[in-house]
Amino acid sequence: ASGYSMLRNPHHNKGLAFTEKERDAHYLRGLLPPTVVTQDLQEKKMMHNLRQYKVPLQRYMAMMDLQERNEMLFYKLLIDNVEELLPVVYTPTVGEACQKYGSIFRRPQGLYISLKEKGKILEVLKNWPEKSIQVIVVTDGERILGLGDLGCQGMGIPVGKLSLYTALGGLRPSACLPLTIDVGTNNEQLLKDEFYIGLRQKRATGQEYSELLHEFMCAVKQNYGEKVLIQFEDFANHNAFDLLERYRTSHLVFNDDIQGTASVVLAGLIASLKLVGGTLAEHTFLFLGAGEAGTGIAELIALEMSKQTKSPLEETRKKIWLVDSKGLIVSSRKDSLQHFKKPWAHEHEPIKQLLDAVKAIKPTVLIGSSGVGKTFTKEVVEAMASFNKVLSLSLSLSLSLSIYIYIYVCVCVCVLAIPRQYQQSKPVILALSNPTSQSECTAEEAYTWSKGRAIFASGSPFDPVEYNGKIFVPGQANNAYIFPGFGLGLVISGAIRVHDDMLLAASEALAGQVAQENFFKGLIYPPFSNIRKISAQIAADVAAKAYDLGLATHLPRPKNLVKYAESCMYNPIYRSYL
Ligand code: NAP
Ligand code: MN
Repeated sequence: ASGYSMLRNPHHNKGLAFTEKERDAHYLRGLLPPTVVTQDLQEKKMMHNLRQYKVPLQRYMAMMDLQERNEMLFYKLLIDNVEELLPVVYTPTVGEACQKYGSIFRRPQGLYISLKEKGKILEVLKNWPEKSIQVIVVTDGERILGLGDLGCQGMGIPVGKLSLYTALGGLRPSACLPLTIDVGTNNEQLLKDEFYIGLRQKRATGQEYSELLHEFMCAVKQNYGEKVLIQFEDFANHNAFDLLERYRTSHLVFNDDIQGTASVVLAGLIASLKLVGGTLAEHTFLFLGAGEAGTGIAELIALEMSKQTKSPLEETRKKIWLVDSKGLIVSSRKDSLQHFKKPWAHEHEPIKQLLDAVKAIKPTVLIGSSGVGKTFTKEVVEAMASFNKVLSLSLSLSLSLSIYIYIYVCVCVCVLAIPRQYQQSKPVILALSNPTSQSECTAEEAYTWSKGRAIFASGSPFDPVEYNGKIFVPGQANNAYIFPGFGLGLVISGAIRVHDDMLLAASEALAGQVAQENFFKGLIYPPFSNIRKISAQIAADVAAKAYDLGLATHLPRPKNLVKYAESCMYNPIYRSYL
């Protein structure tokens, strides 16, 4: 390739880092200023520039420009500064970017398939320059984050999600395809917006919708084969559950909002057992919110309990209760419930309010997944704390006299004799709703209202909190812990179907990465800075499950799957073009 086109090609461009010899060999002389710099210096400069921008959307745009200009530098930056840049290329900033996508749109970063392309989807796929695709993230834009229907402008989500697949999970950028299906939008504001980039019509539904999606699913399999992972993202819940159900037996499909969320939350719960004691099956769970997140998590918890206790799923589900916008889900409501709620309709009198449900069910674990903020009130948290009482004396209690130590030992012995379910001393409270303004309660509220006893994690990040002289670090149940490694595991094993046992394997792998020093701070998730190592571990365990289940096609099975996963990971270090 000529030097000029090399500079314009984001996959090859190294900018000022082209060496003297490369400049001679590739006709780059004169096309660059004389100085030659290292990738590290470019990275330093870029971070310096990014930090000058005070407006988050400007940082987002600068990152997108970099991705279009110099892909390796983009990923190097993202990997080395993951905690700082994740909120820029993904939530919360990507949400604002989607809302304004029409006016900041520069170049298409993925494929657009609209109702206009009906009957021609296979041809459209062939227009994409890369032929060997391993992961597709697809949205129809109907429920973007917590922002609702953003129609075609939802494209920011597949783009952002796939950049995390690469940065955190090591999938090759050229193997990733962001895709938006445009069936219209019901967002009046967008329909009136002169800069809107999508179809100007109300959403197609019913047969018209499912025919377009079916053509898409068939075209993908025909063009890329059975091993391409199709990740559904930010579909409204009626379609999300249906699509997953319809295609899980014929395609390699994964819904991050349902399954990814479930896996990451289950990981946190498994880890939290180290702090609160007992087994999963000895706990009682109450959810506020029974949608994609809530019922997805509930089902995976029930499945894990059923595996551990060797009891049927119908039994383990009884330990889990859900509240939706109409109150506690109980059997008398069964006829009017959406199908994904029916398994959770247990025998109980109807209850409208969360607080009353908490008092009646007495959960040890309370999970917020309704998207509505400030719903874990002081009364709710205090109630959670009141029946998850301190029985075993808190270790932080410093007792100086030996007599007290003697009493403590006696109490411990007594406590050991008490059945596990009465022993639990700390309530687990997860406030998963995003963004921060919708969080069920803040970290500070959870710690102060429970007098420092709650084990707390949330969907949106919160800063550490000091309470009674102790620092509590709240964990973030970020889906980005799971899906990149999960996808890598599917790809390296050549899996052809997703099985729930793979989700359980991913949860256990993540929970296993929480170190003692994290637990000391109350954390139930590991620090994000180790994410590539964590992803490799998850990938290895997911791949192992694929082999065990006979769903892997990449044969023979590698001996050391962790090493193999690591060796497969894309590394954005400049290579020599000599
Ligand atoms: P969804 O499918 O729309 O479900 C929302 C559920 O909440 C529905 O069951 C709804 O009840 C219920 N609900 C709404 N308002 C309520 C109220 N005032 N009282 C009680 N229940 C109410 O949404 P989703 O995809 O599950 O997402 C829910 C939230 O979870 C969002 O804020 C999202 O950001 C968050 N989330 C977090 C993570 C994470 O932390 N990693 C991952 C995924 C999602 P009806 O069924 O009666 O309408
Ligand atoms: Mn999502």
